[in-house]
Amino acid sequence: QWIMGIETSCDETAVAIIKNGREIAANVVASQIESHKRFGGVVPEIASRHHVEQMTIVIEEALKEANLTLPELDAIAVTEGPGLVGALLIGVNAAKALAFAHNIPLVPVHHIAGHIYANRLVKELTFPLLSLVVSGGHTELVYMKEQGHFEVIGETRDDAAGEAYDKVARTLKLPYPGGPHIDRLAQEGSDTLNLPRAWLEEGSYDFSFSGLKSAVINTVHNAEQRGETIAPEDLAASFQESVIEVLVKKTVKATEEYKVKQVLLAGGVAANKGLRKALEEAFSTKAEIDLVIPPLNLCTDNAAMIAAAGSIMFEKGIRADLSLNANPGLDIELYN
Ligand code: ATP
Ligand code: MG
Ligand code: FE
Repeated sequence: QWIMGIETSCDETAVAIIKNGREIAANVVASQIESHKRFGGVVPEIASRHHVEQMTIVIEEALKEANLTLPELDAIAVTEGPGLVGALLIGVNAAKALAFAHNIPLVPVHHIAGHIYANRLVKELTFPLLSLVVSGGHTELVYMKEQGHFEVIGETRDDAAGEAYDKVARTLKLPYPGGPHIDRLAQEGSDTLNLPRAWLEEGSYDFSFSGLKSAVINTVHNAEQRGETIAPEDLAASFQESVIEVLVKKTVKATEEYKVKQVLLAGGVAANKGLRKALEEAFSTKAEIDLVIPPLNLCTDNAAMIAAAGSIMFEKGIRADLSLNANPGLDIELYN
């Protein structure tokens, strides 16, 4: 079984081909970071234009890398949403055109289902499982009782973890995307500021990062007014420690309540060194739970993860026809 994945939800034009749901035959990512950097974030119109320019080139490169032709594909999986509507449309239209021209089944994929399924390229999934999703636009705990079935048991009430990283990075005048820079600085500093932890109500699996983000901004501002400076390393370490402590403790608590066999880390912030280490430590004493963490290139946006999720959706019989549209607010529980 050969599945092509197409991903254009944000600022990566990505096409991948995977074999039997788990083996990567091609994984091409054209990143636009350089074009958005000077604006300090992703500019939707620029993203769409880059996708248009790159789409065909990236598709051809993936086919070449996998040494395949289009008619050999069993399905084309494409990110339907969530994401930037103008960006999503480029991938959706490319997938529709290829599927129609070559009479190949078209499979719609939720971007976050993709992030979660990046883990299946590392290891076979065992159910029930829990996935901690931490990305630029999402922070959620997702419970899965079986393949392709998603239940969100907790989510952020304001900013996503990645968004908080990027905003704190901007306060420290670090380039976009700031997550990796904060991560690097945090390794050199220590948690001296004792920033707030957003636990929310007892028993809640929801998250909140906007208060923490404001606390960082206020701390910097107040120090500036007093003519003092706080070492950016310590600020980064203190911020990161607050984020990680809440993420890890809530994840551990949920695995106990839901009695899961596996825990998956997913999303761009899964690339964070501190978070990876803290999760490994927390689960090192829990032999009954298998922790899976994807390699860095499968954490940030890519199309191998879309093809991996698409393979399961394909087997579940989920199909789209030529009426498929971009869905910027797509719900992950829709195809359960
Ligand atoms: P979503 O997946 O929610 O639609 P997205 O696709 O824009 O959002 P991803 O590509 O999954 O987001 O992740 C990008 C985010 O990950 C950015 O906010 C970036 O700063 C963050 N990130 C990447 N590497 C790290 C790191 N090492 N530490 C912390 N954050 C990181
Ligand atoms: Mg991106
Ligand atoms: Fe993403």
